[in-house]
Amino acid sequence: MVIGELLGSVLATGVLGLPGALFQPGLPGTKITVDAPARKGWVLYTVQPGDTLSQIAHRYRVDARAIMYSSGLESPSLRPGQVLRIPLVDQASSSVRLPPGVQAYTVRPGDTAQSIARRFDLTLLGLVSANPELKSLDRLEVGSTLYIPTAEPGLIVRLRPGETVQDLSRRYGLSITAIARANQLSSPTEVGPGDLVLLPGIQARTTYERLLRIQEAERKAREEERRRLAEERRRQEEARRRQLAERQAQLRAQSQPQLRRANAVVAAAGYRWPMTNFTITTYFGRRGVFQRFHTGIDLAAPVGTPIYAARAGVVTVAGWSRSGYGLHVVLDHGGGQETLYGHMSRIAVRPGQRVERGELIGYVGSTGWSTGPHLHFEVRVDGVARNPLAFLP
Ligand SMILES: [Zn+2]
Repeated sequence: MVIGELLGSVLATGVLGLPGALFQPGLPGTKITVDAPARKGWVLYTVQPGDTLSQIAHRYRVDARAIMYSSGLESPSLRPGQVLRIPLVDQASSSVRLPPGVQAYTVRPGDTAQSIARRFDLTLLGLVSANPELKSLDRLEVGSTLYIPTAEPGLIVRLRPGETVQDLSRRYGLSITAIARANQLSSPTEVGPGDLVLLPGIQARTTYERLLRIQEAERKAREEERRRLAEERRRQEEARRRQLAERQAQLRAQSQPQLRRANAVVAAAGYRWPMTNFTITTYFGRRGVFQRFHTGIDLAAPVGTPIYAARAGVVTVAGWSRSGYGLHVVLDHGGGQETLYGHMSRIAVRPGQRVERGELIGYVGSTGWSTGPHLHFEVRVDGVARNPLAFLP
């Protein structure tokens, strides 16, 4: 059998454990010459009893002198067990014999095994049998060569270095005559390493089934990849939306304290609470059906608690009220705005006096119409009482 150990780059031939063949008479076909892949390197060959140098040189299609040179032989005579170093010729510069009726097809972008089989009116199994080294049905290498049997279907194999037609005959259970006829050989030695041999009627069914499984797996993988990409896009989109929402929330959160601060500044420039410690007991507005409209807010605090000017202004009133405010103070802040402080126990300012915001103007009491110590605080705009809470910070 073949007795070489390949060290260089070599051509692999699919090993197919295939059943015996249907013989079909060879049809006349065309011979097409194509470039085969470059083969470089060498083979180590152990000399068998009966081998001659010229025989080996013929089998490997190299010059006998090249074997002698690369193996360091002094003479062409061989002895069994001797190891020869056989240089492989670069087949790209020579030509490969194609079986009759077999065309070489160069794979174009977009081709699949199915589309090529359809184009040449072949079954997929027929195409795979002619190309048993196919690795995939869908992913074909653009520019690579596929063999198209146009006359007779069968398995197409490439002879390996040292392999003979007799070896193929034994391996595939075909008669040498059947192989010779299908390949239009006058002698089995007409073909050598690198040549393609058509084995009529042989189908690469195992390879075909394996390729179908690979195809299924590849399609699933592509589908999986599509789903993964779609999911990835969806996640990214969601993350972007979330980020945007977070950014907007951040901006809102940032602007709110700013807004509050801005309001506080405006309020500080305007009004302040007239006391520092108190309880609001009555709010502005209508208290009940039979009671009067409450024109200010009541701030309860112990008698004598200091009362401060809510805003800078001029004291217009500081004295006793006949309308129920008791001892009270009115400040004019300008712009039609006034504040009133009622029910004081003592007044600390005089009419006409200018007061600063926060300046002491009197003390909490319960004078006038009052049921307990508290400050009645009013804000008036153009003479109309307004809700003080709208002016206070
Ligand atoms: Zn009141």
